[in-house]
Amino acid sequence: MTKRLRLRFSGIVQGVGFRPFVYRLAVAHGLGGFVQNRLDGVFVEIEGNDKAIEAFVYRTAAELPPLAQISEIYTEDAEPIGESSFRIIPSEDEGRPDVLVSPDAATCRECLQELFDPDDRRFRYPFINCSNCGPRLTIVTNTPFERKNTSMADFTLCEKCRQEHQDPLSRRFHAEPNACPECGPEIWLADAKGSRLDCADPLRKTIELLKEGKAVAVKGLGGFHLCADAANSEALGRLRKRKFREEKPFAIMMRDIERARAVAELTSDEEKLLGSAERPIVLVKKKAESTLSPFVAPGMADLGVMLPYTPVQHLLLREDFEALVMTSANQTGEPVCTSNSEALRRLKGIADYFLFHNRNIAVRCDDSVTMFAQGAQRVLRRSRGYVPKPLVLARQYPSVLGLGAHLKTAVCILKGDFAFLSQYVGNMDTPETREFFHESIANLRRVTGCDPDIVACDMHPDYYTTWVSTQMERRVVQVQHHHAHIASCMAENRITGDVIGLAMDWTGYGLDRRIWGGEFLVADEADFQRAGHIRYFPLPGGDASVKQPWRIAAALLMECFEDDWKKMAEKLKILPEDIPYESVEAVVRQKVQTVFTSSLGRVFDAVSCILGVRRQVSFEGQAAMELEACAGGSSSSKVLPYDILMDREIILDFYPAIRRLAEERVRGMSVRDLSGAFHATLIQSFAKVAQEIRDATGLNRVVLSGGCFQNRLLLSGCVAELDLKGFDVYTHYLVPPNDSGLSLGQVLVAGTVAG
Ligand SMILES: [Zn+2]
Ligand SMILES: [Zn+2]
Ligand SMILES: [Zn+2]
Repeated sequence: MTKRLRLRFSGIVQGVGFRPFVYRLAVAHGLGGFVQNRLDGVFVEIEGNDKAIEAFVYRTAAELPPLAQISEIYTEDAEPIGESSFRIIPSEDEGRPDVLVSPDAATCRECLQELFDPDDRRFRYPFINCSNCGPRLTIVTNTPFERKNTSMADFTLCEKCRQEHQDPLSRRFHAEPNACPECGPEIWLADAKGSRLDCADPLRKTIELLKEGKAVAVKGLGGFHLCADAANSEALGRLRKRKFREEKPFAIMMRDIERARAVAELTSDEEKLLGSAERPIVLVKKKAESTLSPFVAPGMADLGVMLPYTPVQHLLLREDFEALVMTSANQTGEPVCTSNSEALRRLKGIADYFLFHNRNIAVRCDDSVTMFAQGAQRVLRRSRGYVPKPLVLARQYPSVLGLGAHLKTAVCILKGDFAFLSQYVGNMDTPETREFFHESIANLRRVTGCDPDIVACDMHPDYYTTWVSTQMERRVVQVQHHHAHIASCMAENRITGDVIGLAMDWTGYGLDRRIWGGEFLVADEADFQRAGHIRYFPLPGGDASVKQPWRIAAALLMECFEDDWKKMAEKLKILPEDIPYESVEAVVRQKVQTVFTSSLGRVFDAVSCILGVRRQVSFEGQAAMELEACAGGSSSSKVLPYDILMDREIILDFYPAIRRLAEERVRGMSVRDLSGAFHATLIQSFAKVAQEIRDATGLNRVVLSGGCFQNRLLLSGCVAELDLKGFDVYTHYLVPPNDSGLSLGQVLVAGTVAG
């Protein structure tokens, strides 16, 4: 029986090979009709045998192109008109910014086959791509996503490439970055001064240099990587010294899953994530024995691993290396370099050579970082591969731009029921990052075609982002830091209404002008109440304590042991040798430059120091990460003492726990056991406080957010314990729990308040 069916697909369905996919399916099933890009999605009419139509509909959903994502399919029967052939008809209105830009995607299997096929015209061509893979966001200069609006506008398609671009049956139909050795971009190798080296095969030469222990800056999709042989300790030691990055772990790139298995304990979920089109860095458990240099990730239980995602990376890794260090090429704290001249200037003295190419990077984008915990992917840094895919919210809101906080910034635009979270921008301390921040706002406006009238920012009076909000001549909504964290997690999980929010974090400006960071909130999308918090403790030296956890440890010991603190501090070797006890005591007692905080992150810092894991850190979170690593993957059954004081707010007092930790450490209990007990104490006490709040409010939904939930042990333990106690628990998946997910919460709150 002949039927005609009308379908509308919405979601990410344009610029991702969806129309040719529909075309091929329709032709394969002998169906007539057409497919067309429209403002509100892709429109299809299909006519023919009803069985064939059924098969067509089934296969569109089941065999979707890898970059496409359907959020809704609308279908409706229509009168057959006797159409027997299938056509792709011109778009109703190209040029509308409603068309979503897809994230960049890793080189697909078909392209890889061609890349290593000596008979293929793109054999070893470093810019091979197709409708299913290659650069997207990072080459966008304008919308809609057409070649003339990308960095590929500089290259005129040769006849063969043009035919592929226009043939609906080709894998490269409308693949805007399509290129070949004849018409596309090229690579070349340059020395430290930028002079082009005369060599026939720059890739082979690069491999040789890397083998000699050289550091090569390699231009990639969203920026440059600094690249070195991960087995060569001498090379890595030199790179660390030059980058002033003595301890921060380097990410490594392995040729394939088999190689990755040799250095890390991988679960099948982690393997899947490693091989996904997003190709993030995945934090996985390091094997004790491996051929990797110990300089890759000193002190860490985890290893940041990724698989190659560009043709250049495949070509570098194919035959010669176990693993390459691929760290984003920048001075610590600055954004990754993108242009050739910028790389030369900023990587002077760091890179020995440069592997350049002439396809401009239009949008700066770091590698994304993820981990697997409690049965799901957890994105910790959301950039290449994920951005600018929107998050779909529970309902429509007025448009809002969210600016983030200060550290780990990312911006966000809320438009309708879509939230577009930008790539990771970074710490707003340097002029370079601030420039990147403005670049990201401009880019997000371009990609979304939306310039909101409302701006959301943090409440901290001294943040650069707060100042920027005042300069924009828009309506400004200030959102409390931890409310924004909880709202971010609510947005991601599409929940509305009152919840219990646990914001376990590093630093956030509180309503009482103190530094919050261990917060129990009762919140909805519009407002919150502080139901409880971790007991305030002093942060002597203010910002100096951030890099020097021993200051916090000393202050806490003074609080816990009073006059006996010195004995304790001596036994635990808390203070650096050149610091006299008297001066520390004076600072704490006189409260010179001392602020008070309820930050769990700072408790982690202090405990790490008390247990002898870390006295000083070179990056935020280092002490906490190493403390987690010490626990060896499990919290213990032993719980340290703590108090829950019922005041106007609930005060969770960890002083008894700190006392016990210090005493047991002095008695010689292992760091492993004590770290396990510390984690267990946090988990138990948080669940206990949540129960108190449930008893008082009747709320049963608990939302977990804040930077401390990057800690796998804490996250898994809290979810399991709260689950056991009958709570409905909500956590982050695609949005980071740390401050780079904050702007999502800001826009949700501001959008709710304004709507
Ligand atoms: Zn491909
Ligand atoms: Zn060509
Ligand atoms: Zn935060």
